[in-house]
Amino acid sequence: MLLTLFLSGILWAQELPYQDSNFACTDRAVAQKYIQDYRIDTRSFGGLELCNSNVDTKKLLNDLEIIEKGNFNTIGNNIFIKGFIPAESYYSWMKTQTYGINRGNDIPSATAYNSGGYFTMQDGWAVLSTLGRVGTVIHEARHTAGYRHVSCTQGPYQGASMAGCDTTYNYAGSHGIEMEYYARVSVLGTNFHPVYKTMARLMGIARSNFVFNQPIINKKEAILAVTQNNSHADLIFDNEVITREVPQKQGTLKRTSFGGVIFDGTKAYSIELYGNVQLNTAIEDTYSYYKLLERDQGPLFDFEEFDVVTKRFSIQMQNNQSMQFFDYPRGVWTRPISLNFAVQRIATRLENGQTGLYLIDAGGSIYPVNAQNQNIGRALNFKWNPTYVDIGAYEGKTLILKNDGVIYEKQPDNSESIWPLGQNRYSALINTPVYDGFVIEK
Ligand SMILES: [Zn+2]
Repeated sequence: MLLTLFLSGILWAQELPYQDSNFACTDRAVAQKYIQDYRIDTRSFGGLELCNSNVDTKKLLNDLEIIEKGNFNTIGNNIFIKGFIPAESYYSWMKTQTYGINRGNDIPSATAYNSGGYFTMQDGWAVLSTLGRVGTVIHEARHTAGYRHVSCTQGPYQGASMAGCDTTYNYAGSHGIEMEYYARVSVLGTNFHPVYKTMARLMGIARSNFVFNQPIINKKEAILAVTQNNSHADLIFDNEVITREVPQKQGTLKRTSFGGVIFDGTKAYSIELYGNVQLNTAIEDTYSYYKLLERDQGPLFDFEEFDVVTKRFSIQMQNNQSMQFFDYPRGVWTRPISLNFAVQRIATRLENGQTGLYLIDAGGSIYPVNAQNQNIGRALNFKWNPTYVDIGAYEGKTLILKNDGVIYEKQPDNSESIWPLGQNRYSALINTPVYDGFVIEK
């Protein structure tokens, strides 16, 4: 018994922290080694700091500790794991690809950039989670060998001239190397914190679904419904009902490009669709474009991230009478569009099966938004039924969650019957994408 406790104590001690506040002070000799190995300009990061993560030097030391000490199993399969970088070599590979690292903010729209092997970490890097920062340095290191991005043919940057995507996953460019790292952490990682592993999976899905012009993962539509008592969510997929943990936050269930979140007006919290570990913590969504919420002061009336065919859009409403689109290439919100009605709610799917972005007023009038030209159309010739809470689609059928908490299925003759896979009473329902990049643990 004592021995078991002792051993598990050691295992705990070896698990790497995932929050800056949980890192111990860096040993001075270790810090010197990192600084030398990567030629870190500590002064630009705020001076040598071994303990306080508010100083950016310590953030970078934490990142390098995760890179140096992270361990991986060798057995295990995943579509992202191709052996681009040998799993045990991240630290040494990075060392050969890094001629120097400094801190600046000369290109604020970038998180970081690599100029001839010299990396400059921008303000965008400093505000990321440990995982996001580690992913960024690994990404930048790949550019040293000449791997470059191309214009995106899909996603948020579709149609923009800036080079933000990789042609294919097998090009093994910066995006590919970054995704391989996330997948290894998630699937093969042995000493990472469970939350760090979950974050890696979320990040891997959220980014890999748009940074490759030729998709590496395929999407299927599932139903995600939160129970009325908020105890859990049901993920309904391939005719199975799988229980998922829900962040214990008050807010609205929203679809995102990686799955679902609970959005409380100020922050969005990710729902883990793939793993079945009870994390007992709310993981803030810094993966989809809900990460833009970080820039805002005060609560929003609403926010939506949605795709029209292959192009991604994000809108925010600071109040119920105006709306802004996000201009991804410029990295700014456009000027607010004034509405001549007060919005009560947003919907992305209607009872007739139409999808898009719809603004609905208190009287139930539905105004379609044309995302391509940022126009608000005239009200449709039918209204939002006030007994409808949410509308989804499952295998060609329209599902309606009504205010009695029951999910109904619309029949071809327009009658409604109780949907047999909806086995609880629910407060919210969305369609969520599930990707084949990771196994959905039951
Ligand atoms: Zn890049």
